[in-house]
Amino acid sequence: MRIYISVDMEGIAGVVHEDQTNPVDPRCAAEYARFRKLMTGEANAAVEGALAAGATQVVVNDSHWDMRNLLPEELHEAAELLSGGPKRLSMLEGIERGFDAALFIGYHARAGTPRAVLDHTIMDAVRDVRLNGRSMGEVGLNAALAGAYGVPVAVVSGDRATAEEARALLDGVETVIVKEAVSRHAARSVAPAVARRLIRDGVATALGRPHSPLSPASPSTIEVDFTFSYQADYAELVPGSSRPGPVTVRYTHADFCELFRAWRAFYNLARAE
Ligand code: ZN
Repeated sequence: MRIYISVDMEGIAGVVHEDQTNPVDPRCAAEYARFRKLMTGEANAAVEGALAAGATQVVVNDSHWDMRNLLPEELHEAAELLSGGPKRLSMLEGIERGFDAALFIGYHARAGTPRAVLDHTIMDAVRDVRLNGRSMGEVGLNAALAGAYGVPVAVVSGDRATAEEARALLDGVETVIVKEAVSRHAARSVAPAVARRLIRDGVATALGRPHSPLSPASPSTIEVDFTFSYQADYAELVPGSSRPGPVTVRYTHADFCELFRAWRAFYNLARAE
C-alpha cells in the first residue's frame, strides 16, 4: 500500500496565529521554531498510522508556505520527504506517481469560513475559488487533483470547520479534529500529544476501509475571485483564460491537470505588483 501525506501547518494542534506559521519574518523565528516541530510530530503520527495499516511506501510532502518547514532530522525513517519549491503540483507534488490513498494533515478551512482558524485559500489575495460553481478551498481543490490521478483522500485533519468542509465534499472521509476555533485567531485545542494519538489512530482506522476518489467533471471550470482588479489583470495573462468580472478570472479545460496548472499560474501571477 502506497500512501501520500500532504502536510500543511495552520491546522496543527495549538496553532492559532500567522506568527506561529511564518517562516520568513525574523520576529516570528522563536514561535515558528516551536510550531514546525509540532507540525513534524503530526506528520510522523500520520506515518505511524499508515504503517500500522500496512503501508509499504510513504511520501510526506511539505505543503506550507515555502515548503521547507518539516524537520528532516526528526522525520519518521519509514517516510520519504518532499521539501522545497516551486513544485509543479505544489501541495500534491508527486501524486501523479500513483498512490492508494492521500492524507491531508494540518489543513485549514477555505477563505471566508466563519469560526475557522486561519481560514484562507493559498493566499490573502484569493477571496473565493469556485470549481464548477462550488466554492472550494485547498481541501477541495487538492482532493480533485488527487482524484484526477485516481487517488482518494482517506483522512483530513485540522480544526472543526476544516473537518466539516471535508465531510461535505468527500464521502466516507475520516476527519480528525484537533481544535475548534473561537475566532480566526483563537481556538480551543487538544494537547499536541493527544492530537498525534488521534491522527495515528484515525489514519490506521481509515486506511482499513476503501475510499473513492473525487472525480472532477470533464470539462471543468474554475473561477477565482481576487481582492483587487490588478491581481485579476495579471492572472488573465494565462492563455485561454477569460475575465467574467472585474476581480474574477475563469478557465475551462477537459483535462483537470491542465486546469490545475492554470489555477497555479493564476495566483502566482496575481502576486506581481
Ligand atoms: Zn499553510
